[in-house]
Amino acid sequence: MNMHDVVIIGGGPIGIACGLEAQKKGLDYVILEKGPIVNSLFNYPVNMQFFSSSEKLEIDSIPFISKEAKPKRDEALEYYRRIVTSNTLNINLFEKVSTVTKTGDSFSIVSDKKTYTAKNVVVATGFYDLPNYLNIPGENLPKVSHYYKDPHFYAGQKVAVIGASNSAVDAALECYRKGAEVSLVIRGPEIGQRVKYWVRPDIINRIEEGSIKAYYNAQVTKITDEEIIIHNQKNEIVHLKNDFVLALTGYMPNFEFLEKLGIRLSDDEKKLPSYDPETMESNVDGLYLAGVICGGMETHKWFIENSRIHAKVIMKHISKNKSMAVD
Ligand SMILES: Cc1cc2nc3c(=O)[nH]c(=O)nc-3n(C[C@H](O)[C@H](O)[C@H](O)COP(=O)(O)OP(=O)(O)OC[C@H]3O[C@@H](n4cnc5c(N)ncnc54)[C@H](O)[C@@H]3O)c2cc1C
Repeated sequence: MNMHDVVIIGGGPIGIACGLEAQKKGLDYVILEKGPIVNSLFNYPVNMQFFSSSEKLEIDSIPFISKEAKPKRDEALEYYRRIVTSNTLNINLFEKVSTVTKTGDSFSIVSDKKTYTAKNVVVATGFYDLPNYLNIPGENLPKVSHYYKDPHFYAGQKVAVIGASNSAVDAALECYRKGAEVSLVIRGPEIGQRVKYWVRPDIINRIEEGSIKAYYNAQVTKITDEEIIIHNQKNEIVHLKNDFVLALTGYMPNFEFLEKLGIRLSDDEKKLPSYDPETMESNVDGLYLAGVICGGMETHKWFIENSRIHAKVIMKHISKNKSMAVD
């Protein structure tokens, strides 16, 4: 079996950056991606606009030209796809990795199609696969979704959006503008401070004028076919009739997968994975972490802008170790 220098798990922006850098360093690499190229971005809302300007999303200084300063999802799909195709990156799509085991100084990486062996592994699996569930009755009803795609679907419907950050606010505004009757259920006292600066005044104004009804300091405690039940801080109970629920309360990395790989997580609620920030190598020798997964539950800590550098750091370390082994 071919022994790769490095197998990269995840073909998001950072996994792709790792592949590109591995290629530049002359390493034998393969990227394994369980969906299409940049699967997370592909699954973002169709009209989504990044909070970063396009040059901050660039990989390896390859120019990212967008119509507005801050690109839209479809422009990002074009950009990252062209990086993969123009550089003929070695990426296997629709191939999910289930286990990684280390024997001696090499890894065995098992996907749903094949088993690979490699000297090193990079885990760049992001956080978009697992929603932060509410764990309330009715959450599994077909009218409830933890992902939002297209406002057209909700036209003329009563939609409850749960959450107060970018995803929830974007969904609430778009659905309202396509003719949905939108209620926003917010756990805290205000719209999140990290909401895009050009969007936050918009949602606040829509709430103040009564176009979108907001419930602050409120929690949804039950969802039924016809309604949601909301408790507020004063222990008042509201029964709100509705057709659809968008529970947009964030996402988290697959910690079970990380732990199975032997990566230590911090004991606190942050569940920070253990790695050396100088090299991005985890507590398992030869196993590296890249991209947003490094933040554990602090999913806002790392993003494309500040984690694209991981690719260079990791591949520098891997190629240095390789040349030392050859010497
Ligand atoms: C709505 C939204 C807006 C955002 N806006 C911005 C922004 O403006 N600027 C910014 O810098 N960041 C932004 N982010 C964060 C940004 O999208 C992420 O930082 C970025 O996707 C992270 O890249 P990544 O490669 O680390 O992870 P991801 O893009 O999530 O890539 C991980 C990849 O791993 C794959 N994968 C997972 N498990 C497996 C497995 N077992 N086997 C094989 N493949 C697997 C997934 O399919 C996925 O393609 C936003 C995030 C969201 C949710």
